Amino acid sequence: MNAIAENIISIKKRIANACIKSNRSTDEVKLLLATKTVSASNIISAFKAGETLIGENKLQELQEKAEQLKVYPHETHFIGHLQSNKVKHVLKHVQCIQSVDRLSLAEKLQKRLEFEDRTMNVFLQVNTSNEASKFGVSPQNALDFALRVSRFDRIEIRGLMTIGLFSEEDFRVHKCFRLLKDIQHQVLEKGIPAHELSMGMSGDLEIAIEEGSTMVRVGTAIFGARSYPDSYYWNENK
Ligand SMILES: *Cc1c(COP(=O)(O)O)cnc(C)c1O
Repeated sequence: MNAIAENIISIKKRIANACIKSNRSTDEVKLLLATKTVSASNIISAFKAGETLIGENKLQELQEKAEQLKVYPHETHFIGHLQSNKVKHVLKHVQCIQSVDRLSLAEKLQKRLEFEDRTMNVFLQVNTSNEASKFGVSPQNALDFALRVSRFDRIEIRGLMTIGLFSEEDFRVHKCFRLLKDIQHQVLEKGIPAHELSMGMSGDLEIAIEEGSTMVRVGTAIFGARSYPDSYYWNENK
């Protein structure tokens, strides 16, 4: 068995253990492979190990890998910062956009989807750690944002997404994820079917599962360390 397949088994064990600990069923938590910088052939190794859900951060990588991946049945989510001028191209490659974080982007999506006469599933990204370096609508504005986006008839809100705080102090990380869960509760009360909670990564998936995650996004723990710092993907000025 190759390293990627072995790492997937370890991650699934971590997910299963976290589910047991929080009295949840393992099938409540999906595994999304965060495949930024990962080669198509390594992604194919993961597909051969049974995985079918990936997330990409950049249009260019979506385009570069599409041809090689298309023969394998899978679903692709966009999890990176989405510039409005790339909407049209990204829509060609994905089944869900997890990083809808501003009204102007939602407007752009709605217009393009109307033009193509189709709909798109999205998650709304919330900046639960309130760090300036991370994208996402602020927690205070999240409910209002959800209500506004829900008026766009081509956009199907399916969930919420967040990147937890990087901290050694677990309680701070718990706080981020609990906040997203609270916001989800308010959004659901308004009749918006945001049932998915995309939260938890290689370092904090146990905490996220404990707080109600339905989808963990795992990169490093499966594919190894990346040569770019995450700030390259997450900061406004890049
Ligand atoms: C890279 C990335 C991940 C995965 O992070 P790891 O720490 O490598 O597991 C998850 N979510 C988003 C939005 C990412 O950009």
